Amino acid sequence: MVDACLCCTAPNSNQDRRWARGLCGTCRNRHAALGTLHLYPTKLRRSADTAEDYAILRRRDPSMSRAEIAARLGMTLVAMDRALVRHRARQRTAANH
Ligand SMILES: [Zn+2]
Repeated sequence: MVDACLCCTAPNSNQDRRWARGLCGTCRNRHAALGTLHLYPTKLRRSADTAEDYAILRRRDPSMSRAEIAARLGMTLVAMDRALVRHRARQRTAANH
């Protein structure tokens, strides 16, 4: 597990799932804004994280293309689309139970 933020070295106290990249929430948002999230790749990227990153970037700049967003996330467009589809399918499944 990650013990400290890879960027600002803040201690990881809450095991927040944002730490999937080894970054605290503050640094993760900053790197998303700067377009440098790919510098902190996660080995276990969850589709929910991808969907959240996608939504953040989309809100920040609605004119951004999906390919640009995928590039910002350090993913191929195909991989990002697969993750988004997977996430939506899971949400539907969760809503039906
Ligand atoms: Zn940090």
